[in-house]
Amino acid sequence: MPEVVVVGGGLAGCWAAVTAARAGLQVALVRRGPAATAVSSGALDLVPPGEATDPGGWLGRLAREVPDHPYVAGGVEPPAPGELEAEARRLAAELAGVGLRLRVALLRPAFVAAVTGQTRHAGVVLESIAAGDLHGAGRVAVAGIPGLLRVDSAAIAAAIAERSGDGPAARAVVLDPALPGVDESVAGDLDDATLARAVEASGGAEMLGEAIASALGGEAVDVVLLPAVLGLDDPDGVRARVESVAGVRVAELLSPPPSAPGWRLARAAEAMARRAGVEIVTGSVAGIRRAERRVVAVEAAGGDTLSCEVLVLATGKYLGGGLTGDRRPREPLLGLPLFTGGVAVDTLGPRDLVERTRFGPQPFLAAGVRTDAEGRPVDGFGAPVLDNLLACGALLAAVDTTLRGGGLGVATWTGARAGRAAARLRGVAAA
Ligand SMILES: Cc1cc2nc3c(=O)[nH]c(=O)nc-3n(C[C@H](O)[C@H](O)[C@H](O)COP(=O)(O)OP(=O)(O)OC[C@H]3O[C@@H](n4cnc5c(N)ncnc54)[C@H](O)[C@@H]3O)c2cc1C
Repeated sequence: MPEVVVVGGGLAGCWAAVTAARAGLQVALVRRGPAATAVSSGALDLVPPGEATDPGGWLGRLAREVPDHPYVAGGVEPPAPGELEAEARRLAAELAGVGLRLRVALLRPAFVAAVTGQTRHAGVVLESIAAGDLHGAGRVAVAGIPGLLRVDSAAIAAAIAERSGDGPAARAVVLDPALPGVDESVAGDLDDATLARAVEASGGAEMLGEAIASALGGEAVDVVLLPAVLGLDDPDGVRARVESVAGVRVAELLSPPPSAPGWRLARAAEAMARRAGVEIVTGSVAGIRRAERRVVAVEAAGGDTLSCEVLVLATGKYLGGGLTGDRRPREPLLGLPLFTGGVAVDTLGPRDLVERTRFGPQPFLAAGVRTDAEGRPVDGFGAPVLDNLLACGALLAAVDTTLRGGGLGVATWTGARAGRAAARLRGVAAA
C-alpha cells in the first residue's frame, strides 16, 4: 500500500511525488492524462514574466499585493529569489536525469522570442530555447518552414528587431528541408509534432542542418531561431545534430499550443517520477473516501480503491479538471472551499466572477483552493479541512496564469512543499 497518493500528473503532482519519494516514502500517482503542463510554452516562470528582471522586488511586494498567493499563503514569508532558484535547480537535476535540460538563471534571465513574435525574459527555460538568448546576439535569423503555416518568420524577425531596441538585427530565412516521413500530400499542412518527429528521425536533423546552411548561403549569424521542432524526446541531442551540419547555433522559439516544449516537459515530469520509484496509475479518480478528519482512500472510476496515509491533490484548474465551472467554480472531488481575491467563491454571484476590464485578473480564472503554510486546504476561518490532505499547483487560489503567467513556478514551489509536508506527516525529513 502506498503511504502517499498524489492525484494529478502535471508538473505539480509529479514534483510532489518525486519530493516525497526521495524522502523514502512509497508513493503512487494517479492521473487521467496530460493537461496544462503539456501545453505550456517551454518557460517555467518562477516569477511572472513581466517581473523577471527584478524577482526580489516582486516577491517583496507579494504579501501586500496578492496576500493569498501560494508563495505567501498561510502568512509565511515569501521565498527569497535564491530559494526559488535552488528549488528550480533541484527540479532541473531530476529532469536532466531523464534527458530534458533546463537553463536556470533567475537573476540573469534569458531574453527569448516566441512564435508569436513576442519577446520576454525567462529565468527558467528549456535549454533548447535558452540557446536563443537574444542578450548579446548581434545577428539573428528566424527560420520558417513552408507548410508550418502558423509560423510567419518574416513577422517574427520584424517583431524581434523592433522590440529588442538596440538588440539584434533579425532577418527571416525560409527553409525547405525534405524531411523523412513527411508525406508530400500533407507537406502544405504541417503541425509542430509531425515536424518534430520527422526532424528527430534518422537523417532528419541532418537534412534540417543542410537546409539551414543552404538558406544562409554563407552569411554569418549568431543564432538561427526555429519553431519548436527539435524532436519530442531529446531536443538537446537533436539540436547538436542540426548544429553539426548547419555550422551555426540553433535554438527554438517559445511555443503556444500545440507546444512541443510543453509536451516534452509533461513527458519528462512523468519519467522523472517513475525514475524516483513513483508508481504511476492511469485512471480517473471519481471519489475520495474519508473517515472523520482523514482521507483514507481514493476511488478510481472503474471501482478500484487505493488506500493512503496522505493525499496530495494536484488536479490543476479547469484544463486539468481540478475545478469545474458552470455558473460557479467547483472542486469536484471533495467540494473543497474555493476563494478568489481573498473572498469565498460561495459568497459571490456569477457577475462578480467576471472582471469587465479586459486586462484585469479574472476572478473566475484565479479561483482555487487556499492553504495554510503547510499546503493543507483551509476553510473560511483558515482551519485545515482535513488533517492529511495537501494541495498544490494550479488548483490553488490567486493565480490567473492567463494574464500574469507564473503557473509552473507555483507548480514547482508548492509541489515541493506538498512533498515535504507529506514526509513530515509520515515522520521523515525531506530534502
Ligand atoms: C496555454 C498555456 C500556456 C502556458 N504557458 C506557461 C508558461 O509559459 N510558463 C508557466 O510558468 N506557466 C504556463 N502556463 C501555466 C502552467 O502550464 C500551469 O499553471 C501548470 O502546468 C499547472 O500544473 P499542474 O500540475 O498544477 O496542473 P496540470 O498540468 O493541469 O495537471 C493536472 C493533472 O491532474 C489530473 N487530474 C485532474 N483531475 C483528475 C481526476 N479526477 N483523476 C485523475 N487525474 C486527474 C489531470 O489529468 C492532469 O494530469 C500555461 C498554461 C496554459 C494553459
